[in-house]
Amino acid sequence: MNTFSPFNGKTRLGILGGGQLGRMLLTEVNKLNVEVSILDPDPHAPCSVFEGSFVQGDFKDFDTVMAFAENVDIITIEIENVNIEALRELKKKGKKVYPDPEILAIVKDKGIQKQFYLDNNIPTAKFELVSADKAPENLPFSFPFVQKTRTGGYDGRGVQIIRTEADLANFWDGDTLLEEMVPFEKEIAVIVSRGHDGEVKTFPSVEMEFHPTANLVEFLVSPSSLTQELKDKASAIAEKIAASFNLVGIMAVEMFLTKTGEILVNEVAPRPHNSGHQTIEGNVTSQYAQLFRTLMELPLGDTSLRGASVMVNLLGADGHDGVVSYSGLDEVLAMPGTYVHLYGKRNTRSFRKMGHITICDDDIEVAVKRAKKVKEIIKAVSI
Ligand code: ADP
Repeated sequence: MNTFSPFNGKTRLGILGGGQLGRMLLTEVNKLNVEVSILDPDPHAPCSVFEGSFVQGDFKDFDTVMAFAENVDIITIEIENVNIEALRELKKKGKKVYPDPEILAIVKDKGIQKQFYLDNNIPTAKFELVSADKAPENLPFSFPFVQKTRTGGYDGRGVQIIRTEADLANFWDGDTLLEEMVPFEKEIAVIVSRGHDGEVKTFPSVEMEFHPTANLVEFLVSPSSLTQELKDKASAIAEKIAASFNLVGIMAVEMFLTKTGEILVNEVAPRPHNSGHQTIEGNVTSQYAQLFRTLMELPLGDTSLRGASVMVNLLGADGHDGVVSYSGLDEVLAMPGTYVHLYGKRNTRSFRKMGHITICDDDIEVAVKRAKKVKEIIKAVSI
């Protein structure tokens, strides 16, 4: 039996990034009474309300990260775009850095990430790295294919589909990644957790449901509707990835299920992820609690489902810009099994992630139906 001593200067936690993911992680940190500091450049970041823990500063700046980490023992991230050199240096100095800085270095560049899958026999769509001012003469793939910026893209920004010869006029310059277009049946995600001792647990796979016309994820449904065989296959891939990276922490693995029943890895994020928000109410252990356990080198929690759950992102209403108000909140809270999370962002903008709602029910169809209603009712608007 080990002892857990939150006051002996061995468990002080530093988090780079003070957004909503950090804020949800903090809820778990506070449950075990661990001393925590959070670094974010935005003085109004979602974590800024935690006075005494919040430090305003740039997590991309080497010196700022080094100074921030002086009085912490364990460092983690809630955003990938941090100063990796500083994390390498902190690791050298004996601090615990989870996930390892080398994982961040691989994941940060989609080109290096794809090469990692190839080197480790992890199924992924065919790709080619290009470095050009214009489309190459001999295209590696026939139309349509996908072009991605190697760094800095998120939420679909930095991804374009080149459908025709005419689209080549919009080809992005510089270092980019070209991928064959995957004719996918579904997009799924598995969150995998791995402890410092190599213990691995995956969360049951979830499925993204798209809007029928706009190409936007509308709902995240847990569990996925995959057959048990495919669920096992997706979990096995996620476990293989975690082991290949020698991960300590959690990692969201986004995958395509192709029309021929193949599972291909699209990309990973070595941190809490949008596709795991519903674990807070939907699973025995949430992704945040699990990450916290890995950071504290405590045993992993039970990832199994409490029931079905559906997550709806609460995005800023189109055309609304300014101090936020939420219309329909009372109506939504009056519905059974409905959990609203507001991230504490003062200002809304069109499609800004302002919060999310999780709808739980034993019957998945009831949960989906209710989620559709919730989406219609609740709005983040400016007044
Ligand atoms: P981001 O990092 O911005 O989330 P992704 O690489 O996940 O970017 O791509 C965003 C979306 O684009 C995916 O969720 C998927 O719908 C689509 N997409 C990406 N790569 C492919 C591909 N090779 N084939 C088909 N669709 C793709």
